[in-house]
Amino acid sequence: MQLKDRALFRQQGYIDGAWVGADDGATFKVVNPADGAVLGAVPDMGAGETRRAIAAAGRALAGWRAKTAKERANLLRRWYELILQNQDDLAVLMTAEQGKPLAEAKGEIAYGASFVEWFAEEAKRVYGDTIPQHGPDKRIVVIKQPIGVVAAITPWNFPNAMITRKCAPALAAGCTVVIKPAEDTPYSAFALAELAERAGIEKGVINIVSCAKSGAAEVGGELTSNPVVRKVSFTGSTAVGKLLMAQCAGTVKKISLELGGNAPFIVFDDADLDAAVAGAMASKYRNAGQTCVCANRILVQDGVYDAFAERLGAAVAGLTVGPGLGAEPVTQGPLINEAAVQKVERLVEDAVNKGARVVTGGKRHALGGTFFEPTILADVTTTMACANEEIFGPVAPLYRFSDEREAIAVANDTPFGLAAYFYARDVGRVWRVSEALEYGIVGVNEGIISTEVAPFGGVKESGIGREGSKYGLEDFVEIKYLCMGGI
Ligand code: ADP
Repeated sequence: MQLKDRALFRQQGYIDGAWVGADDGATFKVVNPADGAVLGAVPDMGAGETRRAIAAAGRALAGWRAKTAKERANLLRRWYELILQNQDDLAVLMTAEQGKPLAEAKGEIAYGASFVEWFAEEAKRVYGDTIPQHGPDKRIVVIKQPIGVVAAITPWNFPNAMITRKCAPALAAGCTVVIKPAEDTPYSAFALAELAERAGIEKGVINIVSCAKSGAAEVGGELTSNPVVRKVSFTGSTAVGKLLMAQCAGTVKKISLELGGNAPFIVFDDADLDAAVAGAMASKYRNAGQTCVCANRILVQDGVYDAFAERLGAAVAGLTVGPGLGAEPVTQGPLINEAAVQKVERLVEDAVNKGARVVTGGKRHALGGTFFEPTILADVTTTMACANEEIFGPVAPLYRFSDEREAIAVANDTPFGLAAYFYARDVGRVWRVSEALEYGIVGVNEGIISTEVAPFGGVKESGIGREGSKYGLEDFVEIKYLCMGGI
């Protein structure tokens, strides 16, 4: 791994401004998913270290929240600049531990940094309210205050942006944070903390506790039960999200959840087919299909089904698969681990056994390891397992439908409600379908919906809360009502 600034490759946790190992010296290995090479070993921490990180965040809270919004904004701005100045190194680190193509990793660093920039600006706009009083001698004032210590538990698919998307608004609002990064991708988290330290963000304001997969429940248990933590923000699987939500009940913590999705991608007869294919490619194959907003069910209307399948096939043939840091640029890297490949294999096999047709791909890639062929399945039906599970791999299942009502019913027939997409030109249909889809995000003639300026989040079992945009700050403030009498 070639870094210009080797000091960004931190191998320890970060608690109270110090780089530390686990109390018992335990470590776990982090591997490069492209070749299985061990990148290094990082601390396997437990409840004790987590308690200390929370206590440090608790101590730092008074000083951090007492700063003016502009002072916090200036520090965040500096952090943002340092992230961008080190974009190349951060991208190399990310590709090494996560596998995505280097160009995608660079894109994620810019995307991750954009949350820091955005919330540095928004920090200054946490406005309160005055409300017309209910009695002549009273006045009503509403102020917003930081919620307190925040725990951020993050996934491996966006090792940088999922941290900044939570921490930037938390810090902007005046909260301090304890981050538990995913075990597969701790280096991106440590590098962010290193840059925060260089930016001058004081000790205790950001803390990172790393642990192996086997220790996640213990660390998570402390983060969700410790009374000093007032808010848990989690991105990851629905199963873990539900568990954390239940655990937070004991101390009535506020919680934000970004969980799984089952995104429908609907192509109507009146769609611009080339645009729909481009959107499907971006939505489906980015990050090798490992995002929670990836198209999971591609519903195509009768009249354009065959043409769409053919054009999508041609586009998929243009994808190049290989290591993200290899000599040649690629458009699809490996899947994160062997379990991910086995899940994709199982879903493809189930679909084929029930009558689906492999248009292209369908099996492990000749490169071996965790590489999987970009795949298209046709004649997929809702009785197949891939209709109800998040594929999280480079497999595009095509379903056929005949009318708008049917498409909406199928699209909404899931407990999830994160992102949905559809392609149509008829303005009446655009409005009807936009309103009928039970999703937090709808891409209308658009396959890429993530941006720091818009609210990202799901309905139903896909989550609670919104990240990014002006709404993203609200999850980190409490409303206080001052009833001023005797006037
Ligand atoms: P995935 O299946 O994508 O790895 P997870 O929900 O398992 O999704 O992981 C997302 C994050 O949640 C990771 O940081 C992981 O370590 C963490 N995690 C997993 N299990 C628990 C748990 N019981 N308590 C707290 N965090 C957990």
